[in-house]
This record gives sequence, structure tokens and C-alpha cells, in this order.
Amino acid sequence: MDGDAEYQRPHLVTWDSVCYSKKEGGLGVKNAGMWNVATVGKLVNWIYTKADRLWVLWIDHIYMKGVDWSSYIPPPDSNWNWRNICKVKGMLATGFQGNHWISDARGYSINAGYQWLQSSHPHVPWYKDVWDSWNVPKQSVIGWLIQRKALNTRVKMAQLRISDNNSCVMCELGPETHAHTFSDCVYSNLVVTNIELWLQMSLQTLPGRCSTIRRKVWRVVRLSCWYMLWTERNKCRIDMNIRRPELLVSEIQKVAQMRIQHKLNFPIQQSDVIWITSLGIHV
Ligand SMILES: [Zn+2]
Repeated sequence: MDGDAEYQRPHLVTWDSVCYSKKEGGLGVKNAGMWNVATVGKLVNWIYTKADRLWVLWIDHIYMKGVDWSSYIPPPDSNWNWRNICKVKGMLATGFQGNHWISDARGYSINAGYQWLQSSHPHVPWYKDVWDSWNVPKQSVIGWLIQRKALNTRVKMAQLRISDNNSCVMCELGPETHAHTFSDCVYSNLVVTNIELWLQMSLQTLPGRCSTIRRKVWRVVRLSCWYMLWTERNKCRIDMNIRRPELLVSEIQKVAQMRIQHKLNFPIQQSDVIWITSLGIHV
């Protein structure tokens, strides 16, 4: 996590980025406005492909009067719906040309139009770590907010001028950025170090070569750790009181053990059996 970047401007998750796919760092929420455009694109396509429909003949008779659809411009006083269809034609024009939708009557679909309008964005490297099927869903959401640096930390609240105190709720020894809250904070550091000792793996990065079970367990444990730290921080903000780190460590272990035990449904290779048993999980 890059702490410095957080000082430059508050990170807000924009609606557009929420509509990116999960692989692209979003939540995969459908962008309704974009979907409507793609739906109207179906009518644009009918005209392009001269689909055998009464509506297409009627449009040609009333509005286009034989003019080529690619270069057609609607008169300013024409019906609003018609002007909207022509506007969508303009928005999708390069898509229709570049994707051969014009030459193939079945080439255009609402989904294809939507994907094209959304255009693709680079995939984020943390996609699987956050959205692994073993992760607890509410913890995945917190993990996603952490990766997007979108939690309402005190540094962000101060930048938005909602608060003038930007120091860490838990230790009050440094500004509360995402990097501080989940790794640099003395309290978090104690918790993370103990969890790493128990797990026998660093929570910083996943080793390049490791078994499926190790990857999945690492993801569950790391997200449980982040989730519980953030929950503890929120409780501390209200109660002005923080539990001893060892109590939090033991709770993280319990939450992770229950989840892993519940999800463990495939045989584990012998070399991982001793390790997983040492975590208190029955094979
Ligand atoms: Zn702190």
C-alpha cells in the first residue's frame, strides 16, 4: 500500500469505476445509463442492417427518405425519440465500424454494445486476493475498499475538511492513512506479526509458487486480519478503548479457522497437512 499518494488527494470511488468489472478493480455493477444506450443501439443496428421490420421501413419513409444512415443528420425539429436514436448512432459509430456490426445482422448485441461502451481497463493484480470464493463476502468488500484506498480514514476526513484531527485512532502516533492503519501502526503491527508467526507466512505478499490451499488460506487470513483491524479501529473511535492485541489475534484466528474449515472440500497434498493442522484446522 502506497501511503504517500494518499496525501495528494482523497481517494473517492467514482461511480464509473464501481461499474468496472471486478477484474478491473470495480464491483461489476451495471451502469444503467450505459445499458440504455446499448439497448437503443439495437434500433441503430436494425437501420444499419436494413432489418426486415416494419419499423425500419416506416423510419425510412418518415425521416430518412433514402438518405444513407451513416451520414444522416436529423432535422432539429424532429421527434425527441428519433433524435435520441440518432444521438446513440453517433455514440456507437466507431464501434459499429470497428466491430463489423454493420456487415453482420447478428453482429450487434446489447451486451456487445455495452462492453464496447464500457471499454476495457487494465486488470488489477489484487483481484483474486480480494474476491477468492473462500473469502467472507463482507470481508471482501472491506478488502476492496482498502485496495481502492477508499475507507474513511482520518487523513481522508481531514482532507475533505470533515475533521481536523488526522492522527491514528488506535495509537495516535501517526497520521491515519491506509498504510498506517493496516501495517505501520504499532497496534496493527503487533497483531499482524503474531498472525504471521501463526500462519508461518508473511501477509505482505503471496509467494510466487505455492499450493492452492496455501493461497486460499493466506487470502482468508489476510482479509480476516484487515477486517478485524478496521472493526476494532471503529469500536475504538466510539468507545475510546482498545482491546489487547492478543485478544484480537485470537479472534482473527477463530474467524479464519471457521471459514477455512467450512470451505475445505478438496484433498490436501501431504506436505501441507502438517501446516494446516498446526493452524487448528482438521483435515
Ligand atoms: Zn496507529
